[in-house]
Amino acid sequence: MAHHKPNLPQKPCAACGRPFAWRKKWARVWEEVRFCSDACREGRRDAARRVVKKGA
Ligand SMILES: [Zn+2]
Repeated sequence: MAHHKPNLPQKPCAACGRPFAWRKKWARVWEEVRFCSDACREGRRDAARRVVKKGA
């Protein structure tokens, strides 16, 4: 393994709970980033559907 892994910060996703690493596109908003992906950020999961059903 000649590749050196950079020591990037990580944090758990607020939606799926999986840890994700810092990305360059988040350089300015890293402290505000809470989700690992657009899908999690938009809540396109069972959790979102449950909320809609419960609310109705
Ligand atoms: Zn996630």
